[in-house]
Amino acid sequence: MDLISDMSEARSQFPILERILPNGKKLIYLDNAATSQKPSSVIDAMNEYYRGYNSNVHRAVHTLSGEATEAFELARKSVANWFGLPPGGMVLFTSGTTDALNLCALGWAKVNLSSGDAIVLTEMEHHSNIVPWQMLAKEKNLELRWVDVDSESYQLDLEDYKSKINGAKLACIIHTSNVLGTRNPVENLVKIAHDSGAKIILDCAQAAAHEKLDMMDINADFLAVTSHKMCGPTGIGALLISPGIFEEMEPVVGGGDMITEVFKEYSTYQENEHRFEAGTPRIAEAIGWSAAINWMKKLDMNVAHKHTLKLAKNAVEGLKQVPGIKIYGDHSKDDVSGVVSFLHESLHAEDIARMLDSMGIAVRTGHHCAQPLMRRLEVTATNRASFYFYNTIEESNAFVDAVKTIVERFA
Ligand code: PMP
Repeated sequence: MDLISDMSEARSQFPILERILPNGKKLIYLDNAATSQKPSSVIDAMNEYYRGYNSNVHRAVHTLSGEATEAFELARKSVANWFGLPPGGMVLFTSGTTDALNLCALGWAKVNLSSGDAIVLTEMEHHSNIVPWQMLAKEKNLELRWVDVDSESYQLDLEDYKSKINGAKLACIIHTSNVLGTRNPVENLVKIAHDSGAKIILDCAQAAAHEKLDMMDINADFLAVTSHKMCGPTGIGALLISPGIFEEMEPVVGGGDMITEVFKEYSTYQENEHRFEAGTPRIAEAIGWSAAINWMKKLDMNVAHKHTLKLAKNAVEGLKQVPGIKIYGDHSKDDVSGVVSFLHESLHAEDIARMLDSMGIAVRTGHHCAQPLMRRLEVTATNRASFYFYNTIEESNAFVDAVKTIVERFA
């Protein structure tokens, strides 16, 4: 199979990118770190399910239910294969990364950690990899240890990590930062955690959009992933678990589908993934995610990522020429994502975003669910333009020109 290595061909499969906004401007979508757009094949797969075989899974003998069940379980296999799950590893479907991190906290850590145990986090974490651990720490009297981020290099302080992991039971680390674009040295972080006897979960919400993650290579105990940033629908993600973890977990949500038998006095639970998926699962979303993975399989991910980085670096170089702009993140390296965070010294971030919007350019503004990192950077918010493979060099240039114009007019 020939991989798609022409990014304009890839772009042509995303209908929304032709959108004209109500003010007549053509959309320039630079909010990909928040959610990516979806190719036609994903939209079609979900429509086909609703038009042709919409039915509940697992519980009926009729044809539609059989078709839906087959497609749903095929999606699980497709996710397992894409993320290189080792034999004995499992895909537990969740509503996204946030839900996957919470499942790890409540389904594994709550059962296996006890009073006084320590968990290592970093200052770079998204709130979804902070708040569940704070809640658990309060309930179980756990210690949370924070690894510093260097506010000059925008990297984790590895020496600090080595000292904080000492004696800790679990490390919860962001793979690729949604604010700085920094790709953490996860293979090394996993090795250090394991050498010191700790388990490790990686928040791969951003990473999975930009690189083909392989659980066997990464060797982490848990990966939290999401569909909606990698061309799939919202509403679905997964906690990927290594062999041996399933047996150490307890179900968190009770209900239908996760049981084998229910008596008045007690219930027994399924011995497979369904144990953690009570109730009607996300059927259309699983089918959509599977279609997104099939689409990504056709994309040359190396070329796509290089293209994304070229656009991000082009934007960074352009923004550096604009008086008063500061960039947060080190884009001189290749181990970054397509995220460009910036601030102007006197213009308010939200004003810049609104003016960009009036020019058709969608960027994000705010703390990006990373307030501890914002405090480390000594800001309350940044503007964030985030590029993806379907963006173009013309869009990157138009974005820089727009920022220049705004600064010239209003600063
Ligand atoms: N972690 C990171 C690094 C993210 O960027 C996001 C999404 N903004 C999340 C977690 C939350 O992911 P989800 O939307 O799938 O819950």
